[in-house]
Amino acid sequence: MRIASFEAIALKVPEDDPLANMPEEAGRTRPAVALRLRTDSGIEGIGVTLYGKMTRTLHAAVEELAALTIGEDPMRIEAIVAKLRANSGDAGPGGIFTLALSAIDTALWDIKGKALDQPLWKLLGGHRDRVPTYASGSLRRGLTDKQAQQAAETLLKKGFREMKTQMALPGDPTPAEEVRRVKVIREVIGPDIKLMCDINQRWRPEQAIDIGHRVEEAGVGLFWLEDVTAADDYQGLARVTAALKTPIAGGEYVWGIAPFRQMIQAHSVDIVMVDLARVGGVTQWMKVAGIAEAFNLPIVSHVMPEVLLHMVAACPNGLTVEYMPWMIGLYEETPVIENGQLVLPTKPGLGLTFDEKAIKSFRA
Ligand SMILES: [Mg+2]
Repeated sequence: MRIASFEAIALKVPEDDPLANMPEEAGRTRPAVALRLRTDSGIEGIGVTLYGKMTRTLHAAVEELAALTIGEDPMRIEAIVAKLRANSGDAGPGGIFTLALSAIDTALWDIKGKALDQPLWKLLGGHRDRVPTYASGSLRRGLTDKQAQQAAETLLKKGFREMKTQMALPGDPTPAEEVRRVKVIREVIGPDIKLMCDINQRWRPEQAIDIGHRVEEAGVGLFWLEDVTAADDYQGLARVTAALKTPIAGGEYVWGIAPFRQMIQAHSVDIVMVDLARVGGVTQWMKVAGIAEAFNLPIVSHVMPEVLLHMVAACPNGLTVEYMPWMIGLYEETPVIENGQLVLPTKPGLGLTFDEKAIKSFRA
């Protein structure tokens, strides 16, 4: 079996909130590039990559790299990744090259799964057939307290047992205002729902320690506090991690696999979060999972739950899947959630099929 042809499509995907229908992002679109990689045996693999506003550049990078896979054996993924790296010169290891590589690597794993007639999560280890998942993208910092409470109630009604909110509120809030915000959400959801909170790198380390302590004293009980400061400030993160009882999560902004070594060795995080596009695809994601396991750390996913549930389910230290439904509109159907858990698909490969109508209407 050889790679015979490909098609890369630049997309603008609506930024709505299908989980709680909250207004903050209405009308905006998110750029993405969808890839189909076709073999001479008729098997087609798909991959999606995203981020940034340079969609035409990303589209061109995916096309340029995909062209290099023509004639290659799709079952030899590491050989293809090495070829793409070698041909990229110094355009890597981070940035557009890695985002483009991720789409190709994901499509290759999809082909491998289809060729072997096995779902991806089984090929990668198959640790379990259901994984916990948490609602993400609804309890945003731009909402009023009342809107945030309404959104939390909607998520509960939909059966979510875990959900993520944000602090580092807009404007110049006092620490007390930050604490108030997570408290009003906790009041609505009760003590047993897991509540995560994302700072998106907006605090200084000392601010994270101060507000983190106040949240602990208020008895909010966060499951984790995420990206509390600049993602590459491994020492600053380590200070926060050492100072707080609340587990610190981070890693979604890290490129490739090597920085995770620094991050983990510096004790920067308690929970390792890995982004599929920034790490460079399925192959690299699983390597970081192995590093984390050796350090007795859980691993969690970032966005694209319809793909990432395979990896979180595959490894023994997979903790939970972020249910950020940015891209689910691209597919005919996506994995279902039962009792707060994602059910792993039984179809081969990713188990996903592009919705032709959606792809057409989202074309950039
Ligand atoms: Mg985050």
